[in-house]
Amino acid sequence: MIKGRQQLTLEAARSVLRGVGMRCTAARIAVIQCLNAAESPMTPVGVVDALGEYGFDKSTIYRSLTELNGAGIVVRLDLGDGVRRFELLPLESDGSSEHPHFMCIDCGKVVCMSGFDVELKGRSKKARAPGIMSEVLVRGHCHDCAT
Ligand SMILES: [Zn+2]
Ligand SMILES: [Zn+2]
Repeated sequence: MIKGRQQLTLEAARSVLRGVGMRCTAARIAVIQCLNAAESPMTPVGVVDALGEYGFDKSTIYRSLTELNGAGIVVRLDLGDGVRRFELLPLESDGSSEHPHFMCIDCGKVVCMSGFDVELKGRSKKARAPGIMSEVLVRGHCHDCAT
């Protein structure tokens, strides 16, 4: 599954769930399709709002997000502002988001930097990364706030 802006078909969403041995409930499918269509990571409240017309219980959507996260289909991003955000992982992912994220320090907006790679290059042989990068957050001013 490639994360794209186009709609994920019902069949594709089902096969994602089947791939990890999960039952295909309407809520799980709706959450997967919703996250797939999003251009930035979504908060649980944002998913509830987006799926409002389907009449799911709020707690059902929250539980689906947690279950999908546990199954490795969805990653939970902790970007340090205390807001939980979720996004769909590509199929062959190692469990972390495959692109960096940008956060505007003025308006708090978070955007996926799809198509970007961030690599740490030591300036000397002694330079050693303090750990393994799993999430990269770039902070700055978004186009709206910079002008
Ligand atoms: Zn901004
Ligand atoms: Zn993202």
